[in-house]
Amino acid sequence: MNPKNIQFQNTRSFSKELDDADSLSDFRDQYIFPKLNGKRAVYFCGNSLGLQPKGAKKYIEEELQDWAQWGVEGHFNSKRPWFGYHHFFTESLAKIVGAKKTEVVAMNTLTVNLHLLMLSFYRPTKKRYKIIMEAGAFPSDMYAMETQAKLHGFNAKSAVVEVKPRKGKHIIEEEDILKAIEKNKSSVALVIFGGVNYYTGQLFDLETITKAAHKSGAKCGFDLAHAVGNVPLQLNKWKVDFACWCSYKYLNSGPGGVGGAYVNEKHAKNPKTLRLAGWWGYDEKTRFQMTKGFVPTPTAESWQMSNAQVFNMAAHRASLDLFDQTTVKALRQKSIMLSAYAEYLLELVKTENKKLAFEIITPKEHERRGAQLSLLFSKNGKRVFKHLEKNNIVIDWREPNVVRFAAVPMYNNFQDLYELYASLKAF
Ligand SMILES: *Cc1c(COP(=O)(O)O)cnc(C)c1O
Repeated sequence: MNPKNIQFQNTRSFSKELDDADSLSDFRDQYIFPKLNGKRAVYFCGNSLGLQPKGAKKYIEEELQDWAQWGVEGHFNSKRPWFGYHHFFTESLAKIVGAKKTEVVAMNTLTVNLHLLMLSFYRPTKKRYKIIMEAGAFPSDMYAMETQAKLHGFNAKSAVVEVKPRKGKHIIEEEDILKAIEKNKSSVALVIFGGVNYYTGQLFDLETITKAAHKSGAKCGFDLAHAVGNVPLQLNKWKVDFACWCSYKYLNSGPGGVGGAYVNEKHAKNPKTLRLAGWWGYDEKTRFQMTKGFVPTPTAESWQMSNAQVFNMAAHRASLDLFDQTTVKALRQKSIMLSAYAEYLLELVKTENKKLAFEIITPKEHERRGAQLSLLFSKNGKRVFKHLEKNNIVIDWREPNVVRFAAVPMYNNFQDLYELYASLKAF
């Protein structure tokens, strides 16, 4: 299906036709939709907190049961032995982010991983100390950059270079990112971007950014919070140095769910790559000799400090089971269609109901966006948001006047978008 070849229609029956033709439509039944006012919600907040996979409860209960049955022996005797629990995520995550199995690990949470990886890959010198990032990044990322600069004795104002959208625009031009890297080529130590910007939904060209960063002699990393499980990634092929993500957005693994990290194998294998150590990063074969002197396992797992957080990781496993049954490519194809249909309905409803005044600030080209669309309202924004809420449509409000929503290919369908359209029309 290519959205360009389809003449969309604004009818319920047409949206149903699209659903009938969707080969991924069965996945929807594997998720639990919230009930609002006693009615199943039309849920568009998977970019913020993905829905609960029905299998999550069983997986968590199995761990509770194994703990009850085995006590400490569960480390080796339980159904999914806790000693190597992190291994149960490797294969699925490697596929999702386009990495080798030695390059990924499920651990900690996103901002924690960002700091840990920066301790390894932001090693500024007097001459080369700058961090280039996007303006308008997620606050946690801004605070991380600011305090990392401080940690190394730099002033955040001069060390952190933000690439901004042009005047009056919302999207950052790729050309301006490359220019900023070129301009700072003798002083930049690290280039770090969100894969998809959380506010505008802009997807950056990660391969081109990585190349430019390397050409200038800098390391390159990405915060993939809004990209993982949403858009195709090829971290190994693009030679990205490191990346981290959370699992509760498009990876549907629950509030505070375990984060993930990618480290390019060339760094992971190199014993000279400095990493803050804990016992779980130690070579597994000899870990329990418990001797002095840290010997890192030669994979991304060496960034682990502690043993696995089994209960929260159980939900992650339940979610990845569903990703294992399809491909990022198939999900992406559906996602492109969903966004195109959403865009068509939104542009149409604006002409049908003059009380609606918004602009879609997310890029129009599907190569430059993921599942999320962001609408900037010039009036009535909060009222529209409240109206949708009353109609059981769950979207997300960002001050001062932006509504963000995502049609997630795993569990949203085309009829959900029709509901949104009908509700907006009735505002
Ligand atoms: C969601 C999100 C976070 C959240 O960080 P946690 O450490 O998981 O609380 C950080 N950065 C970005 C870009 C995000 O979208």
